Amino acid sequence: MATPEKAPADRKKVPLRACIGCRVSKPKMELVRIVRTPEGQVLVDTPKGKLNGRGAYICPQVVCFDLAIKKRALNHVLKVTMTAEETNAVKDGFIKRLISAAPEMTNR
Ligand SMILES: [Zn+2]
Repeated sequence: MATPEKAPADRKKVPLRACIGCRVSKPKMELVRIVRTPEGQVLVDTPKGKLNGRGAYICPQVVCFDLAIKKRALNHVLKVTMTAEETNAVKDGFIKRLISAAPEMTNR
């Protein structure tokens, strides 16, 4: 359902998603998507969001990821129970994703 709030100077409709860590809504493309595949694997999605499955969105910062883990939001949203090992693997992929998504950092 569309919310009746006025859109401040937005030309195109930007799909918003709430970060499961801090609960702040941001444009979908600014968030990192975590996916539970139909096989039950939890993965960090590609930058284009191609993976199939149930998705959760997190801000591109480790704080939010940790928050989502602490609140069990990731387990809840993806309807999975992840072991500490699996959580670490996803976090690893998440961090790698953050690094690869920041090309300006090398360009100074
Ligand atoms: Zn966040």
